[in-house]
Amino acid sequence: MPTYRYLGNSGLKISEITYGNWLTHGSQVENDVATACVHAALDAGISTFDTADVYANTKAEQVLGDALKGQRRESLEIFTKVYWPTGPGGPNDTGLSRKHVMESINGSLKRLGTDYVDLYQAHRYDTETPLEETMQAFADIVRQGKALYIGVSEWTADQIRAGHALAQDLGFQLISSQPQYSMLWRVIEDEVVPTSRELGLSQIVWSPMAQGVLSGKYLPGKPLPAGSRATDDKGGARMIQRFLTDDVLTRVQNLRPVADELGLSMAQLAIAWVLQNDNVAAALVGASRPEQVAENVKASGVTIPAELMARIDEILGGAVER
Ligand code: NDP
Repeated sequence: MPTYRYLGNSGLKISEITYGNWLTHGSQVENDVATACVHAALDAGISTFDTADVYANTKAEQVLGDALKGQRRESLEIFTKVYWPTGPGGPNDTGLSRKHVMESINGSLKRLGTDYVDLYQAHRYDTETPLEETMQAFADIVRQGKALYIGVSEWTADQIRAGHALAQDLGFQLISSQPQYSMLWRVIEDEVVPTSRELGLSQIVWSPMAQGVLSGKYLPGKPLPAGSRATDDKGGARMIQRFLTDDVLTRVQNLRPVADELGLSMAQLAIAWVLQNDNVAAALVGASRPEQVAENVKASGVTIPAELMARIDEILGGAVER
């Protein structure tokens, strides 16, 4: 069973292993496999599910909503996001204008089959819409009960600070930031994490396994494993490329003795690593088959000793993005 952590300064508890469905539901995997993954997550005690309207151009929300049908709503935390266009491309089909935010939440609720989402997230920062307009729209959505809490994704520290101040004036809190974070991608450590700690936001981190690369299944100089994201011609293959260099893959293989010493699989080591950061409330983990969910959830509650954390840094060295 995964451990629960509070999301920011709020009273909302979420499972520190959170299930995410980017690139899988409605795209790489068939709906029956997607449903089996969701059920494996529920069986393993995962209660928190993350999606976005733009994933598989709205299909991911629909598939997740269908897979969660019949579950007790109060026992779930359902997160989605707004920003990118999902429609045929009207001028207001994008960004964080009041119009797009208000229309998008209604579409998401319908597809997810729920009256409210627990967390509604700004998928990116909108440089064209006044932040005041966006935050007022979020305040109204919270007041309407369509979302219980508000978060952001891939906002800079300064953007988080500005959004947080406006939210406070409007009577609600920004409680989370959703950035990319893994052993290989540590960009948030210098500014986003300290600012979030100060203001009372948690990180919900995406691609903690670097899209599967940190599971160790991609070997330098060897063919790509069949059925993996790197072979997914519906979009996944493009997104994972940056990690598929011989240098990165060789260093990742050198982590194997560290995982062995802890009695973990490499996937579990990667997930446990992000959870060592006390500002991280959850690792957002994807899966293309139910067995992966069952394996990944065992990363919950693991402590990696300081000596092994230092050894990981030595091994990965220059492959780390800061
Ligand atoms: P991960 O780094 O967890 O990668 C998941 C993928 O790795 C799986 O789909 C699977 O792909 C492979 N995998 C999973 N478990 C194992 C295992 N035990 N052994 C071997 N391979 C494994 O995260 P994602 O990149 O999927 O992102 C997770 C979530 O983060 C998303 O679903 C979404 O909710 C969120 N996200 C948010 C973004 C944002 O902008 N806010 C951007 C991107 C993601 P396969 O089997 O096909 O190789």
